[in-house]
Amino acid sequence: MFLALLLILAVWTGPAAAQSTTVADWGEADLATAAALRDRALKGTSAYDHVSSLVTEVGPRLAGSPGDEAAVRWAMNRLGKLGFTGVRSQDVLVPRWVRGTTEVSLLGAAPQALVAATLGGSIGTSEEGIEAAVIEVPSLDALIGNEAPDVKNKIVFINERMERTKDGASYGKTVGNRVRGASAAANLGAVAVVIRSVGTSDERFAHTGRMVYDMDAPRIPAFSLSNPDADSLSRHLKANKQTRLRLKSTARELPPAWSANVIGEIPGTDRADEIVLLGAHLDSWDLGQGALDDGAGVAIVVEAARLISRLDRKPKRTIRVVLFANEEFGLSGAKEYARLIGDEHMKHVLAMEADTGIGPVIRLETQVAPESLGAIETMRKALQPLAVEAGNNTASGGADLGPLRSLGVPVLDPVLDASLYFDVHHTMNDTLAKVDAKVLDQTVAAYAVMAYLAATKQDDFGRLAPDR
Ligand code: ZN
Ligand code: ZN
Repeated sequence: MFLALLLILAVWTGPAAAQSTTVADWGEADLATAAALRDRALKGTSAYDHVSSLVTEVGPRLAGSPGDEAAVRWAMNRLGKLGFTGVRSQDVLVPRWVRGTTEVSLLGAAPQALVAATLGGSIGTSEEGIEAAVIEVPSLDALIGNEAPDVKNKIVFINERMERTKDGASYGKTVGNRVRGASAAANLGAVAVVIRSVGTSDERFAHTGRMVYDMDAPRIPAFSLSNPDADSLSRHLKANKQTRLRLKSTARELPPAWSANVIGEIPGTDRADEIVLLGAHLDSWDLGQGALDDGAGVAIVVEAARLISRLDRKPKRTIRVVLFANEEFGLSGAKEYARLIGDEHMKHVLAMEADTGIGPVIRLETQVAPESLGAIETMRKALQPLAVEAGNNTASGGADLGPLRSLGVPVLDPVLDASLYFDVHHTMNDTLAKVDAKVLDQTVAAYAVMAYLAATKQDDFGRLAPDR
């Protein structure tokens, strides 16, 4: 009897041991559930309702503003109503900047007002404003290079166009003008900086966004012009090198204020302590409604998790939705989340965020352990018929995932079609009118499949080398 049992054990352990070296990432039932989840989402989701509710009941929600506070309440309430468990907030101290009013006027023979925005973080001007001659440069590099022009006592106009691309890669090439332009110009003695908007709208919409002062540079005000107004200023400068602008802004910084990350979970079954994180940011710029940036992202991750919670076949791991505070103005929420989780970062199996508008997903980039790339390919195939291309394994995962990635948490980085996103990005035109419910559903389908498969995969996705 004992021998027979040993034989049976030998028969049983044999195949099991052989299998462990080529262990299947997912069983047939998991893959079938993922396919059904995808098809269910493609038939229509509640994602549009989530964005609509956020932008209608809350509206703009710049970090630390009353709108931001209302957004935290909205998220707590919404996640609770949708059946998330462990709904909670995490206090986050955020900088508090107030835009005030902005006036940029072209002086001279054909005086006119230009459509402009004060850049986020900029100081204001004195009450009488700044009036000075303008000098145009083609890029930030032209200011920090050896052959910088004489910009002393002038307004520097950085006139570099952001090109339209499908994956939005051109944003990274021009955003430095906005972030670092003021200090680069101030170090050379300029009195203010005006940039061509970092954005692709051909309409008269100025794109705002965060700028940062160097610690040791004089602080000068910073503005952006809509693309048509940048064209106009450039034409004037070509005709008359003495062209002058008057700039006025009542922007100012107030003491830091409290905001919060909002967290809700879909609990896992036998590996509930392991986490698949879905992130988006709750704050927005003040000019529009933040429907695309990042109301759409909030809707995508909330709805993907909600659809998973409705499945009969529950995921093994917990899916944690984190709606981060203050992405726009310095990633305060993302940094605080990574600090507060302590050692729990080791339990974060995978993280992904949504912060490029409505989609659809066109490519799947990652940063996971190389031995997980086969699983990523299976995951990508499970996204058919969404036609998601394979991408590289050197992705960042997005701004709010930076602190987690630095701790070694692997990331998925679904690339969304951003052809139109940068037309409205950080402008007053970022409203619900730009949200196409059908496209949003496709993106939700992709996120739901990826999150579900990540939460049911047999093994994890390895760990990245920590940055610090
Ligand atoms: Zn964003
Ligand atoms: Zn943004």
